[in-house]
Amino acid sequence: MTCKGICIRHKAQKPLGTGRYSTGQKRCQICELFLRWDGFWCPCCGYRLRTRPRNLKLKNKLRTRKEIEKRKLSAGNEQSPIQVANLSYYKDTEKLVIF
Ligand SMILES: [Zn+2]
Ligand SMILES: [Zn+2]
Repeated sequence: MTCKGICIRHKAQKPLGTGRYSTGQKRCQICELFLRWDGFWCPCCGYRLRTRPRNLKLKNKLRTRKEIEKRKLSAGNEQSPIQVANLSYYKDTEKLVIF
């Protein structure tokens, strides 16, 4: 597991006013960089990426921020098109069962 220099292409910029982990950036301990990468493993060295801060205080801060976002999401989701689509889908299957 060594750095091959690929990680530079996925290097994440430091976000303003918010934490790196809360914006979805992941840390590679081998390459010593923060990456914008959807996978769990470093695209460069193949090492498992860190998705949470080690610092407990920061962790708690991140958790409360995530909970606030979740609450905001669930409040805004009530009339989301996805849910409406699901409802009509269920209604259709119900009809299929009834008739
Ligand atoms: Zn690397
Ligand atoms: Zn790496």
